[in-house]
Amino acid sequence: MTLPTYEEALAKAREGSPFSNSTEGECWMENNCEQCVHDRPARTGNPADGCPLVLVAYLDKTPAEWMRNEGFRLGDQYTCVMFRPEDDPGPDEPTPAPDPPGQLTLCPREPYERPGRMYVDIRPVEAGVR
Ligand code: SF4
Repeated sequence: MTLPTYEEALAKAREGSPFSNSTEGECWMENNCEQCVHDRPARTGNPADGCPLVLVAYLDKTPAEWMRNEGFRLGDQYTCVMFRPEDDPGPDEPTPAPDPPGQLTLCPREPYERPGRMYVDIRPVEAGVR
């Protein structure tokens, strides 16, 4: 899974800011980008190499890679399909098994491969007692 370039991300982004105010944005980024390997350069003093999706969001557009979640919970408004935790052993992401050599295929697979995996957030969530 490869991050889009800044230009690709900007071209695919939806119009409109992803967040209503800076508090919403800060909470979401703290829960996601600040724990993600893709924005580590920005956190370590090299913002020019930070995540291009974050740059797009700063331009009042919503990256196509951010899937809107049901309901509203501060810090959990979107699921980023490109998120990769910093402790992910990587660098390789799961990729489709290659076609066996010499295998005839009915149709090319490239147009149907997703740039990102369907992501289910499996990070532990603290449950509160009411
Ligand atoms: S890939 Fe997604 S979660 Fe990771 S830094 Fe970029 S926007 Fe944030």
